[in-house]
Amino acid sequence: MKHILLFGPPGAGKGTQAQLMVNKYKFMHLSTGDMLRDEIKRATEIGLKAKKIIDSGQLVPDEIVAEMVRLRIKNMKNSTGIIFDGFPRTVAQACKLDEIMTAEKQEIAMMIAIDIHDEEIIKRILERGKVSQRSDDQDVNTIKKRIDTYNKQTAILADYYKQQKKFKSIDGRGSIENIFEKICELIEE
Ligand code: AMP
Repeated sequence: MKHILLFGPPGAGKGTQAQLMVNKYKFMHLSTGDMLRDEIKRATEIGLKAKKIIDSGQLVPDEIVAEMVRLRIKNMKNSTGIIFDGFPRTVAQACKLDEIMTAEKQEIAMMIAIDIHDEEIIKRILERGKVSQRSDDQDVNTIKKRIDTYNKQTAILADYYKQQKKFKSIDGRGSIENIFEKICELIEE
């Protein structure tokens, strides 16, 4: 099994690329953002708590997302691998993921970072907001806060995976197909 972390700021195209990877390699898509939005839709206790945090552009507490991920991996059946999208987002989450993977006798193969500039991100998220119905995609201030949160708490994870010699990055400009080709090259290396 090959487990891959898709990494990059909000709006880098992680969700789109993850979907293409699922179609091609039959990976299981694990998006903590999607899982949280599902909790919100079902108005669960976690959902009610997460909604406010998501709309303020901040991160949901590590324990909540890590536990969701742990249960999802524990109950995983016959997968060729997992494509992690939007997790981990803090060093504490990365440490927790290492623990979870060790307990399941699994290992992260690589982190693939999609490189992209802030101005391009804001443009893309606002475009996405027109169709996604996501409240956190509609407001420029929330988007800026999400980028700020990424720069302060998440970007440092590149170093964490560089230390483990698992870090790879690709240029996030260009067409969806073009970026996907670069991702496939890394996976099949
Ligand atoms: P995403 O769909 O990945 O852009 O996530 C949307 C929002 O959900 C983020 O801005 C966070 O508020 C929350 N979220 C998603 N994944 C995580 C995570 N791993 N840790 C903390 N908060 C998360």
